[in-house]
Amino acid sequence: MTPNNNRSLPPVCIYEGSDYQDTFWRGGGRAYEDAAEAIALKRLLPPGGRLLLELGAGAGRNTPRYHGFERIVLVDFSTTQLQQAQEHLGVSDRYVYVAADIYRLPLVDSLFDSATMIRTLHHMADAPAALGEVQRVLQKDAAFVLEFANKQNLKAILRYLLRRQEWNPFSPQPVEFTRLNFDFHPRTVFNWLEEAGFLVEKKRTVSHFRLNVLKRLIPARILAWLDGVLQPTGALWQLSPSVFLRARNLRQERKSTAKFDEVLSYFKCPECGHTPLNSGKNRLSCSKCKRGWPVTNGIHDFRVGSQA
Ligand SMILES: [Zn+2]
Repeated sequence: MTPNNNRSLPPVCIYEGSDYQDTFWRGGGRAYEDAAEAIALKRLLPPGGRLLLELGAGAGRNTPRYHGFERIVLVDFSTTQLQQAQEHLGVSDRYVYVAADIYRLPLVDSLFDSATMIRTLHHMADAPAALGEVQRVLQKDAAFVLEFANKQNLKAILRYLLRRQEWNPFSPQPVEFTRLNFDFHPRTVFNWLEEAGFLVEKKRTVSHFRLNVLKRLIPARILAWLDGVLQPTGALWQLSPSVFLRARNLRQERKSTAKFDEVLSYFKCPECGHTPLNSGKNRLSCSKCKRGWPVTNGIHDFRVGSQA
C-alpha cells in the first residue's frame, strides 16, 4: 500500500494488487468479525431501495448483503479489488464498477438513496472531506451506514492505563497507528457527520470479542450471536474496536440530473464538474475540459484522466 500524492488531495491508501481479500478475510480467522458485521448491517441498512453506493467496496465482501437494492455502484480506489468483486459478483446490469478517489467522486449530486462505507474511513487522512463528498451524492433523507475504527476501545484504554501505549484513547483527535491507518474517537466522527449535514440515528458497537484467545475457544457463530446481543449498547457507550452507525442526510442542495436506467447519467467530470459525459468505445470523456477515462472490462477508471 503506497500513498498517492497527486495534486493537493489527501493521500489515498492503495490496495492495488493486494491479496487482502484472501489473506485477511478468508485465511485470517475473521469469520467472527465478518458475521458480526453482517448482523450490524442487517439491523442498520434499510431493507431495500433503488440505488446504493458502496464506498470502499473492495472485493465485494459485503455486496451480496445488499440484495434488497435494485442497483449498486461499487467504488474503490483499486481496480484489482474491483476485478475481484466482478469475478465474485458477476457482470450484470445490477452492478456498476467505479475506480475513483473518494475526495472527488465522479458522480452527480443527490444520486443515491443509500450508501455504505465499511472499514474504509479507517484510511482517510481527511475524513471530514470524504464525508462531505458522501453527503453531496446522497438524496435528502438517504441512509448512510458507516463503520469506523474506534480509538476509545477497551484494549487501548487498558494499554494506556498500564502505560504500554503513549496515545490517549480519550482525546478527540484521530490516531494514525501505521501509515494511512487511522482510529477515531466516536464523538469526533459524530461531530463531523453533523457538520456534513447528517443526523446520526442509530449506533452499534461491533467486534466486542476481537481477542485471539476467545476466537480460538468459541465458535465464530456463537461469538457473533453474542456480539449481536451486545451491539445495541452502542447507543449508550462505544468501547468496542469497531463502531457502526446509520445517519440520515438532512440536506440537499440540488436535485439529481440522473435517470435510473441510464448509467451514463450518473457520472460527472471529476475535474470540471460537467455532466453528462460522452460515451465512446471503452472510454468516457468530458466535452468541456476534454479529459477522458478508460472503461476496461466494465470498470470505469476515473483515477487518472488523460487529455483527449
Ligand atoms: Zn471536464
